[in-house]
Amino acid sequence: MKKIQMVDLQSQYYKIKADVDNAVQNVMNTAAFINGPEVKSFQSELEQYLDVKHVIPCANGTDALQIALMALGLEEGDEVITADFTFAATVEVIHLLKLKAVLTDVDYDTFTISPEAIRRAITPKTKVIIPVHLFGQCAPMEEILKIAAEHNLHVIEDNAQAIGADYTFSDGTVKKSGTMGIIGTTSFFPSKNLGCYGDGGALFTNDDDVAHRLRGIVNHGMYERYYHDEIGVNSRLDSVQATVLRRKLPLLDSYNEARRKAADFYDEAFSSQENLLIPARSEYSSHVFHQYTLRVLNGKRNELQQFLADKEIPAMIYYPVALRKQKAYYQESNADDFQNTDKLLDEVISLPMHTELDDEQLSYISEAVLEFMNL
Ligand SMILES: *Cc1c(COP(=O)(O)O)cnc(C)c1O
Repeated sequence: MKKIQMVDLQSQYYKIKADVDNAVQNVMNTAAFINGPEVKSFQSELEQYLDVKHVIPCANGTDALQIALMALGLEEGDEVITADFTFAATVEVIHLLKLKAVLTDVDYDTFTISPEAIRRAITPKTKVIIPVHLFGQCAPMEEILKIAAEHNLHVIEDNAQAIGADYTFSDGTVKKSGTMGIIGTTSFFPSKNLGCYGDGGALFTNDDDVAHRLRGIVNHGMYERYYHDEIGVNSRLDSVQATVLRRKLPLLDSYNEARRKAADFYDEAFSSQENLLIPARSEYSSHVFHQYTLRVLNGKRNELQQFLADKEIPAMIYYPVALRKQKAYYQESNADDFQNTDKLLDEVISLPMHTELDDEQLSYISEAVLEFMNL
């Protein structure tokens, strides 16, 4: 059996090696390393795939979040609501920009931000809501957009983990994740569902004025060459990464399908275990399984992780610490307001999930989990 990894980037690369190597060599030959034609082509191909008016490539997913917040004309101390249970990048940039992060609880079943908690967190200073489409499934956007409209708030979707997911509104309209808020952000970090071979990121918007602003901010606040109208950043997707992404974008749906098949295998194996909860699949969002995350209900999550490690099966805890309790962002909080988050921190475990898992590996992993649960 092939060695089991959380993410197997190498096997995936070998399947497209000739195509990618050739494309990278072409970039070398043309020496258009920055903002070359490959970046432009990738941009428009992603616009088409997402059915969104503007894609603005940038250097990584964290920059994308920062640039999104910079484009909204916020003032120091303005409040940004986001989930307490997510990767740190989201709150990091809020703090960096001297905005106030207002962290809320998540839904226990979907792991995404709770609309009820958002409602409770809104104050006159609230300006933005950042739902994170955690682990590959959209937050309840219809409800979140409704709350935002009622209170005149911006919505930035952190779509780093759910690119390619479809959201279905109650009237039947279907939209791609990341295209519903005023701005969507994503990351092309190698392990993401659409990953490049280094760092990369992008912003999406359907608003022409916001797109113009974003394009200026990513490029030193320049709207006209060497005229700097505002403080910007330098955040670019390079041509080598863009050419890799152009080769992988047409495969994204099949990659997400391969992840879904692996998830179906796991679901089937674990659905009748009373002490395991399989990931919930919401009725409004397809799931692209950036992670396959179980909840372990018998209090033995850490023992399970060790048991699997002894069998050379990696499994990860995403995420072990609530953001409100991290040293860098520590804030006083009332445990009653974070009941789901605090429970999830003790229960969640993510199994190997990528596009190259075969049935032999999936059986081996599932049997090991079941063996532990039935000890
Ligand atoms: C990966 C990730 C980011 C950051 O992306 P980078 O490209 O690593 O900067 C932001 N938010 C979430 C939810 C992520 O998973």
